Amino acid sequence: MPEGDTVHQTARRLHRALAGHPLTRSDLRVPKLATADLTGRTVLDVTPRGKHLLTRVEGGLTLHSHLRMDGSWKVYAPHERWRGGPAHQIRAILATAEHTAVGYRLPVLELLRTADEQRAVGHLGPDLLGPDWDPDRALRNLLAAPERALGEALLDQRNLAGIGNIYKSELCFLLGVTPWLPIGELPAETANRLPALAKKLLEANRDRPDRTTTGIPRPDRRLYVYGRAPRPCLRCGTPVRSADQGDGSRQRPTYWCPTCQSGPTP
Ligand SMILES: [Zn+2]
Repeated sequence: MPEGDTVHQTARRLHRALAGHPLTRSDLRVPKLATADLTGRTVLDVTPRGKHLLTRVEGGLTLHSHLRMDGSWKVYAPHERWRGGPAHQIRAILATAEHTAVGYRLPVLELLRTADEQRAVGHLGPDLLGPDWDPDRALRNLLAAPERALGEALLDQRNLAGIGNIYKSELCFLLGVTPWLPIGELPAETANRLPALAKKLLEANRDRPDRTTTGIPRPDRRLYVYGRAPRPCLRCGTPVRSADQGDGSRQRPTYWCPTCQSGPTP
């Protein structure tokens, strides 16, 4: 699942490729947008909001997309081969004279009036990498449902925006508690550290192609627990455990160290 830092990197790449240039091609391959044509309009900017991408074009329109589990936007030079996936997975093509942006497997693609963007992203909590970041509000949102499991509260973008499944497990490890701990049972001192720690993790990875929470670039040492079960915890050597957390379609593989992290487990 793309995390907030991935979405920010994607937005920056799209912004550099498209902003300030008129579109020479616009091909939106979802039924609702079959007749929409943005050709000739200049792209004003591409802005990330949590895990949403807002591509604003001249004339007061915004193309809203979301990557969800495995969507992506790729940018190609005019004669470069497209390698983001088979053609039937392409949902959007936006081209300028110099670049072509291709959106693959986008589960959300809609055209809004820029004035109505709040309809698409107004539910989001403060964005960890955004100009609206507000650590106090993020913490208040998280603590508003004290019985909720920490891991699930962290993934809920209405509390704070930008944390995906990897950072969820890594943050719980760094806080020393399991993802199943009811958030209201976090010691006050730990809870107070949470927003700044989350921001630090995402910021440290904002410009990095390979995400790390340990600060170690070696592929098998980049993350403390995520994806490591049943290998040893990087800190104490205990085998890392994993289980799904969440209900139904929101179930996500979750990792923790039974020695370094205290609290309930499944
Ligand atoms: Zn450990």
